[in-house]
Amino acid sequence: MSNQEAAAASNFIRQIIDRDLAEGKNDGKVATRFPPEPNGYLHLGHAKSICLNFGIARDYNGTCNLRFDDTNPEKESQEYIDAIKTDVLWLGYEWDRLCHASDYFEQLYAFAEELIRAGKAYVCDLNAEQMREYRGTLTEPGKNSPYRERSAEENLDLFRRMRAGEFDSGTRVLRAKIDMAAPNINLRDPTLYRIRKGAAHHQTGEAWAIYPMYDYTHALSDALEGITHSLCTLEFEDHRALYDWFVENVDAPSRPYQYEFARLNLEYTVLSKRKLTELVNEGHVKSWDDPRMPTIAGIRRRGFPPEAIRDFCTRIGVTKSDGLVEIAMLENCVRESLDATAPRAMAVLRPLKVVITNYPEGQVEEMTAANHPKDQSMGTRTVPFSRELYIDQGDFVEVAPNKKWKRLTLGGEVRLRNAYVIRCDEAVKDADGNIVELRCSYDPDTLGANPEGRKVKGVIHWVSASHGVPAEIRLYDRLFNVENPGAAKDRDWRQDLNPESLVVIEGVVEPSLAQAAAGARFQFEREGYFCVDRKDSTTGRPVFNRTITLRDTWAKIAGKG
Ligand code: ATP
Ligand code: MG
Repeated sequence: MSNQEAAAASNFIRQIIDRDLAEGKNDGKVATRFPPEPNGYLHLGHAKSICLNFGIARDYNGTCNLRFDDTNPEKESQEYIDAIKTDVLWLGYEWDRLCHASDYFEQLYAFAEELIRAGKAYVCDLNAEQMREYRGTLTEPGKNSPYRERSAEENLDLFRRMRAGEFDSGTRVLRAKIDMAAPNINLRDPTLYRIRKGAAHHQTGEAWAIYPMYDYTHALSDALEGITHSLCTLEFEDHRALYDWFVENVDAPSRPYQYEFARLNLEYTVLSKRKLTELVNEGHVKSWDDPRMPTIAGIRRRGFPPEAIRDFCTRIGVTKSDGLVEIAMLENCVRESLDATAPRAMAVLRPLKVVITNYPEGQVEEMTAANHPKDQSMGTRTVPFSRELYIDQGDFVEVAPNKKWKRLTLGGEVRLRNAYVIRCDEAVKDADGNIVELRCSYDPDTLGANPEGRKVKGVIHWVSASHGVPAEIRLYDRLFNVENPGAAKDRDWRQDLNPESLVVIEGVVEPSLAQAAAGARFQFEREGYFCVDRKDSTTGRPVFNRTITLRDTWAKIAGKG
């Protein structure tokens, strides 16, 4: 770890933990949790929270639970639970305990009765609109509910009947009795329980007619699990007083503390479950795991390695100030990781036929190619070379446009990677003047040797025409074409979608790639990093996703290059 990375890894939350440990708090234990609601797929913002919570548990020899915050049965499902588990494991973390807030429903109910008996909670019959009226505003205090002074006996009776399903959804709630004039609106007698009759819960089925609210559930679940440091994003800062009120006003088994950090906002994308849901439902992308999506499932399918995501989360650090993180930072983490780990291969994305007229017909040579230029341990493979090849259309022009042009020209020479130097003798055109084939000759003395008496600077990649495997190549790019989608005034964020975020082409890949396993990642030399699509690729019909280009092609456009 560099000094810079070490500094980023040592964030303000770790300083709090260090201080707590120095003071001997929590018997020297550190316990965190990651608490997603199973109402959608995880995204890169969640990855920040996962790396923070699980990373702290790992580094302090502590524990981290995966807890499903499942108190809204209508919006949640087992499908999301399974996907979240897959994503956390893929990111490289293992939970100590797998929990559901619904595991605690009986216990949470008992805490509620405890609050009622202590005169700290009451059943309120105001409807939603009346509740809003009574709540007051930021500048005006609220008014007490006419039901606030119900006796503990009456409240207990009503609450038990709420549980028994005697009342219709929305007719009554249980509220904490705190302070309707509190400057912090969260403390103005917040709702603890609401009635949801007939909702089928993915874990508890039809067992409950009442469901606890988020703040209440969250604080007390932390206390029940013995969480020491409850980490959440800044929008919950105003809820901390309520969090403290809950854990201090019931006989909780432990006393957790909440700390807030800034959520991740990332350039050229959106990180909110609501907007991501709209992208899927409105057909702007194909699915939750569409490789353009910033979901964990999407970036996995795109080919981002999990270590690149962890590296990114370390580099962005954890602070208290919201900001927009440069996408280039994420992309550079991906490039660095793939540069070190991805085997090289040759693939021609826009094929142009080359016939080597002086190469014997029917002859095939197996050329030896290194799988990685800087890592010998990755070994070598062979690539068949024959009389008819494909090169990329972009690697040939009849006349060099400038002195920097090192690729093939009419009459010019170029080296074929891992093979010979060739010269282009003729460009064959169709009736419309399009170049359809190049007729070339090769120099047999140039295999692994410089040509005699002349310099050939350019090296291009190629694939043998008869051995190459046709493949679908999906060129993915940023999903939005502005840094902060929807930020401009009166502009819907969807208007900032990049219409060229996906271009599908038909390429030819070297034969070794036909057998590549789903998800396998490669550098297609001179083209970028690609991976085998996990869903659509088959042995007979490989499909490759472009994970990322070799260099940042947006830097120039954005004036950053
Ligand atoms: P969204 O706003 O996308 O709907 P959420 O906060 O409702 O997300 P949860 O499932 O409740 O989603 O989130 C689980 C955990 O992940 C929470 O602790 C939350 O603070 C954290 N989290 C969510 N989004 C981000 C983000 N962009 N950056 C950092 N942490 C996040
Ligand atoms: Mg949430």
